[in-house]
Amino acid sequence: MSESVIPQLRPEMAKLPTYKAGKKVESVNGLTAYKLSSNEVAHSPLPSVVAAIVDAANDINRYPDPFTTKLKQALSDKFAIPVDQIATGTGSVGVCQQIIQAVAGAGDEVIYAWRSFEAYPIIATIAGALSVQVPLTHDGQHDLTAMLSAITPRTRVIFVCTPNNPTGGIVTQQQINELLAKVSKDILVVIDEAYVEFNRDDNAIDGIATMKANSNVGVLRTFSKAYGLAGLRVGYFIGPKNVADAVRKTAVPFGVSNIAQAAAVASLEHETELFQRVEEVIAERRWFESELAALGFKLPPSQANFVWLPLGDRTEEFVNRSEGIAVSIRPFPGEGVRISIGERQALERIIELAKEFVF
Ligand SMILES: *Cc1c(COP(=O)(O)O)cnc(C)c1O
Repeated sequence: MSESVIPQLRPEMAKLPTYKAGKKVESVNGLTAYKLSSNEVAHSPLPSVVAAIVDAANDINRYPDPFTTKLKQALSDKFAIPVDQIATGTGSVGVCQQIIQAVAGAGDEVIYAWRSFEAYPIIATIAGALSVQVPLTHDGQHDLTAMLSAITPRTRVIFVCTPNNPTGGIVTQQQINELLAKVSKDILVVIDEAYVEFNRDDNAIDGIATMKANSNVGVLRTFSKAYGLAGLRVGYFIGPKNVADAVRKTAVPFGVSNIAQAAAVASLEHETELFQRVEEVIAERRWFESELAALGFKLPPSQANFVWLPLGDRTEEFVNRSEGIAVSIRPFPGEGVRISIGERQALERIIELAKEFVF
């Protein structure tokens, strides 16, 4: 047997990029290192949430509740939505994968804007589905007219990410209403609201209300961002009952740990405190945006916990320089950088750096 014979993979595997997680930075010249590359919140967990986690740790010799009963009940109460329309998963990336596996198979099409969330192409490819990427407008907004035109008989699901990662802009209620009026009801439309808690634009989509008003709309949400539980992997889908049923069936069994379930329930109970932190992030975002605007940068207005800085071909230089000041940010080579709203000292360093990139 030749040693060059190796196990065969599905052809899709060659197309899969490796997910680029936000880089962990090293301290440079004694400077404290900061990570502004993964849109995490900088605050550590609330003591009450840590207490729930510690308590849940006493049961980790047991499998978790596979039905995430308490968590789904808490979400059902919060949104006034029946429990059977809710499905949970290992982060909303996990839920996103469950959704695509439930609706799209080989040769089916998944439409989403591009740039948008980097997990969409990976998950679609793994399912054997085809990604149909519809370019954002020149100012970083979803082009819903073009997305509508991209629909074919093979389209199974359309993702609308609002606020959009990485550009930060929202899709308006009017825009989505116009799209939904024309989309066949047998196509699922998923509104990815990972950053919805950071939105302060009243014209933005109200995902839950839109879902309640349309038989083919679902909403994807997460505990990773505003709730500060990125490390625990828990997110959820709220949508049509038949889709929620299917999304539960495609989940990894026992995927959401009892620790994650307990932390998510505790976080819902302490939302007021957590949302005060969200207010602080929004205030910091406004300050950071105004500082950059004062330098002459034209930024798409962000409604998320990050800001998009379109640097074009100066992106890599900016990112290299930011590593030199011990701040990690997310590069999109040739396009721009995404900077999470984190510690003030880190944002100040980025502003100082940006001064050198003004034309
Ligand atoms: C961060 C993010 C998610 C959530 O990821 P988790 O798996 O829940 O941590 C989902 N969608 C978008 C657009 C995101 O940026």
